[in-house]
Amino acid sequence: MKLVTFSTRERIEKPGYLLEASGEVLDLSGCYKSTLQVIQSSDATPTDAARFPLHEVRLHAPIRNPPRIFCIGLNYCDHAIESRLEIPKFPVVFFKMTPSIIGPDEAILLPRETAEPDYEAEMAVVMGKGGYRISAEAAMEHVYGYTILNDVSARDVQFSTSQWSLSKSLPTFCPMGPAIVTKDEIADPHALRIRLEINQECMQDSKTSELIFRVPELIEYISSLTPLLPGDVISTGTPSGVGFARVPQRWLRDGDQVSITIEGLGTLNNPVTTEENPRSL
Ligand code: ZN
Repeated sequence: MKLVTFSTRERIEKPGYLLEASGEVLDLSGCYKSTLQVIQSSDATPTDAARFPLHEVRLHAPIRNPPRIFCIGLNYCDHAIESRLEIPKFPVVFFKMTPSIIGPDEAILLPRETAEPDYEAEMAVVMGKGGYRISAEAAMEHVYGYTILNDVSARDVQFSTSQWSLSKSLPTFCPMGPAIVTKDEIADPHALRIRLEINQECMQDSKTSELIFRVPELIEYISSLTPLLPGDVISTGTPSGVGFARVPQRWLRDGDQVSITIEGLGTLNNPVTTEENPRSL
């Protein structure tokens, strides 16, 4: 299934399933207030739910208020090398904060606080069943599904201290979506092509097989220190090709169109605009 947040003309955000075969969205709002509630519940899908044609709805971030967004730094070898940082012995964990979340086609706003806004294409894991001290062997039983996340980063802020979380949490710096694809649809999360284009020019092109710490190891490591909760997001890190490591450096600019495609998870598109000059979408 593809779990989405959508709205119709009334502009009320609702949880739904994207039914690609029929081009419709199944409205789950009769039973659930949010996609987080769907994830937390093990109840069956309602059979009498309303359906809306996909072209009549707007998709939003597939999860609006995850308990936490864990991010993994330097989790692709080639990205650690281009960053001139050591390949980590333990996962490097920081956070993105939920007010930075936006959905598909929403604008990434460039604020005046950074001159170096950058992009990072990432596969994100969404937890289903929570747990403390989950073993790597049992980890996949705790996964609900996967989505695309752009770990937008203010590099000048990031590298001004050793703590990265705030530089990754500016408003609009966490585009997610378009859907959370349930794990049954993804045979192997470590065999997916991951690509990022700006204005149709390829900037990142890799495979999740290049991950240093894979999904079960990340779940084992994080849950050994803090209990994982249903709906927690773990963004697994980005491959090489980010803007700050390019020659010349390539920062996000007003008018850019950023597009991330991960095999099986769809495409996440976001325009870029400056905070002072918001474009109507
Ligand atoms: Zn990242």
